[in-house]
Amino acid sequence: MCVREIPVYLIGPGAVTPFQRVSASSFFPGVVLARPREGNKGKPKGEKNHGGGYVRVEQSLRIPAKKGKSSPMSIPKRKKMRAAVLLSPRQFELRELEVPAPAPDEVRMKVEYCGICSSNLAPWKGAPWFSYPFEPGAPGHETVGIVEELGADVADLEIGERVSMLGNHGFAEYEIAKANCVIPISSNYDQVPFLGEPLGCAMNVFRRAQVREGDWVAIVGTGFLGMILLQLSLEAGAKVIAISRRESALGIAKKMGATLTLSSKDRAQLLEVVRNATGQQLCHLVIEAAGAQETLDLASDLTGTRGRLVIAGYHQDGPRSVNMQEWNWRGIDVINAHEREEAVYAEGIRAAVQAVTEARIRLDELISHFFPFERIEEGFQTLERRPEGFIKGVVSLC
Ligand SMILES: [Zn+2]
Repeated sequence: MCVREIPVYLIGPGAVTPFQRVSASSFFPGVVLARPREGNKGKPKGEKNHGGGYVRVEQSLRIPAKKGKSSPMSIPKRKKMRAAVLLSPRQFELRELEVPAPAPDEVRMKVEYCGICSSNLAPWKGAPWFSYPFEPGAPGHETVGIVEELGADVADLEIGERVSMLGNHGFAEYEIAKANCVIPISSNYDQVPFLGEPLGCAMNVFRRAQVREGDWVAIVGTGFLGMILLQLSLEAGAKVIAISRRESALGIAKKMGATLTLSSKDRAQLLEVVRNATGQQLCHLVIEAAGAQETLDLASDLTGTRGRLVIAGYHQDGPRSVNMQEWNWRGIDVINAHEREEAVYAEGIRAAVQAVTEARIRLDELISHFFPFERIEEGFQTLERRPEGFIKGVVSLC
C-alpha cells in the first residue's frame, strides 16, 4: 500500500490535536478527520464547533490508538508459523500457516508451552460427536508464552510480557486471544511452565469445594489437577487422603504431605482404611478429579453423611450412572465444579499466580514430560498410557 503523510486536524472525543502527521496507510473508517476553517461565524450544516473555531468535517476516519504497534521483533506480514492439525483420531499433521493478526481487542502470543489436558484425550481417541479435521492448534488450551503483538485498543498488557491465555488453538507457534482472557504471570516462575488454564481451573474448583480446617478430604485421582487440589487442601488445614492407581503418583502425594495415600486397586481395603481413619464417618469432602465412572463411584462411596462431593473430573465420554439411593440417603451436596464463565476462569488464573507466588502451590514436580512440537503425537500416546511417573505432559514450542 502507498504510504503518504498529510497535515490534518484530528478530532477525537473532546480534543483536537493540531497538525499532527498521520500516515494515510493507517486510516480506518470510523472516527472523524477534519480540517480548520477560517472565521467563527456562520457555522454551516455538517460542521462541528471545536477549539474556538469551526471545522468542517471532511471524512469519517478512525485514528488508531497508540498501542497496536508491534514489538521490535514483530513479524513481517505473511510470516508463516507451524500449527498442529488433528486430521483424524490419533493423527496430527504440522501445517505451515500464516501468522494470525490480532483484532483491536485481541493479543497475539508467541506460544512457549501448551499442556496436554486429559480432556484432549477424547478428541485424540475419536468419538462420534467430533468432526475432523480440528481447527489448527485445537484442542490445545493450556498455553503460556510471550505477548508479541497488541491489538489497537489493548492498553493494559505489555509486549514481551509472559502470559497465559484462555483459548483453544494452543498447539501452534502463535495464538490469538481476547485481551481480557490474557493474564500476566509472575516472571519468577519462568523455569516451570505456568499453565494458566488448568491452574485457574484448580483454583475455581478449590473455591467451590470450601475446604475447612480439620476436614477429612479425599482426592480421587492425583493427576495435575488432583495434585494442585491436594496442596491447597493441606494448606487450608484439612486432613487429605490421596487416591490413585499409580504408585509413583502416590509417592509424590506423600512427599507433598498427604495424610494418607491409598491405592484404588483394592477398593474394599481402601474403604476399610478410610472408615477406620475417619471413625466410621467417611469424608466431609471428596473431590473426584479423574473423570471416569469408576472414580465417580469410588468418590460417592467415600462421601460421608451430609458431606460434599465435588466433581472436578471432566466426564465427556457419555452419560454416567450414580447410586442415587446412597446420595439421597446420605443427603450429600453434589457440586459440578467446572467453570464456564470466562471472567471467573481468568480470576482463577490470577488467584493461581498469587498462590504460586506465595508458594502455596509448587509446580516443580508436576510437569513430568516435555515433548518437542514435532513429537506432539508421542505426547498424546504417553497421556493415554499414563506410565508410572507421569503427571503432566507439555508440548514445547520454544
Ligand atoms: Zn485443560
